[in-house]
Amino acid sequence: MSDLIRRDPRAEWIARNRLHPLHVALQKVESSWMGPNGVLRKNPHAVGFTGPNGLKRIDRSGTQQGGSQKRSTASAVVQLPLHVIEQPAFYIAVVPDMVGGRLSAHDKDLLGLAHKLAGSDGAVVAVIFGEHKESAFDCNGVDRLLQFADDAFDGYAPEARVLALGALERQLSPRHWLLPDSRTGGGELGRRLAAKLGERPATRVWQVADGIASGRAGAGREDLVQSAPRLILAAVECAEPVSETRHEVRPLALSEALVSHLPRIQYLGAVAVDPAQIPMAEAEFILSGGNGVKDWTLFHQAAAALGATEGASRVAVDDGFMGRERQVGASGIWVTARVYVAVGISGAIQHLQGIGACDKVVAINLDPTCDMIKRADLSVIGESAAILQALIERVAAHRQGGARDAA
Ligand SMILES: Cc1cc2nc3c(=O)[nH]c(=O)nc-3n(C[C@H](O)[C@H](O)[C@H](O)COP(=O)(O)OP(=O)(O)OC[C@H]3O[C@@H](n4cnc5c(N)ncnc54)[C@H](O)[C@@H]3O)c2cc1C
Repeated sequence: MSDLIRRDPRAEWIARNRLHPLHVALQKVESSWMGPNGVLRKNPHAVGFTGPNGLKRIDRSGTQQGGSQKRSTASAVVQLPLHVIEQPAFYIAVVPDMVGGRLSAHDKDLLGLAHKLAGSDGAVVAVIFGEHKESAFDCNGVDRLLQFADDAFDGYAPEARVLALGALERQLSPRHWLLPDSRTGGGELGRRLAAKLGERPATRVWQVADGIASGRAGAGREDLVQSAPRLILAAVECAEPVSETRHEVRPLALSEALVSHLPRIQYLGAVAVDPAQIPMAEAEFILSGGNGVKDWTLFHQAAAALGATEGASRVAVDDGFMGRERQVGASGIWVTARVYVAVGISGAIQHLQGIGACDKVVAINLDPTCDMIKRADLSVIGESAAILQALIERVAAHRQGGARDAA
């Protein structure tokens, strides 16, 4: 054993909490100390221990008083009472986020809520996916643990996880499903599970008391109070974490019949899409042409070389160079691209309205005073055909260079 003195935050917390059942056991009892006048003082009440017959015994060797121990309280092992549920009347299923393979504070609050709902008859089942590093499931209220260790559930795999939870629903039919309403997985998984089970969930729930769930609504300004549904997506601090009991963490498995029927989803990677087929409103990278584009063949070549979705100003559409479905602007489509390249577009207010939500705008124009240049994050002043041609050559050189490097 290492001589390092390790702090036990749990023991320290119990020692501070006067209402905890183990509070007295963790109080540091000073049996002797140096008084202000230099005389050694002894506390006779702290000396000795209570024997099996209830009589106080004194051990003069000093070992009972912790004389041979370096630290009496911090090294004390907190043995919480074991909570055993042999035959649960019902189950409460909890699907923790397990960020980094461990129970998060949010997960622990959720397990605390699960225990409130389970009472003394129900059992709390924690359902986890993939490998984990958690060593304190027992102190956090997990009566049963179901682990889906298959790599089909690794990473971002909400479809596979929902199918597995659906199988568990058929096996246990839990009284409640609890998921963290978080951005680290639980929020999305919970909503998908709601759709799969046909249940209407209570979301952003911060309290469940007497069968009534209270959740935040109306941009956080109001509470939605309803009788607690089967599926609850709970917020942080929805309940106190379990702290007074130890739990069995008995492993649970899906029945063979359900496992064999578990559909397998294999992730084959992203599918390459033709940028021209992407709807304008969803496109991330748009090359848009206006009245200043003089060579439309070159424009299409540039869009293909860059892998950009094509857009256009109204003038370019009215002149028949582009289809109406490509028009960007107030009377066309409002786009939200991360990069919007405007070639030969002046920046009329109706056009600028359509690109208001774009992240970065690049303008290619002959006129340095036009409104598109004022709106742009990056501007290239010059003749559109020459710049598009130079762009195509740069992209080709970059790709060839990349291929050469890879070789
Ligand atoms: C009710 C209403 C709704 C409208 N809705 C829309 C809409 O939804 N979308 C839309 O786009 N417009 C809309 N318009 C039209 C809008 O007002 C403008 O007329 C239009 O956007 C101008 O298009 P443009 O910038 O391509 O052409 P121009 O205004 O003619 O601008 C051409 C630009 O190209 C530059 N240029 C010229 N030659 C070259 C070259 N060789 N190289 C580089 N640059 C060059 C010029 O300096 C100029 O800045 C609407 C108008 C009305 C009245």
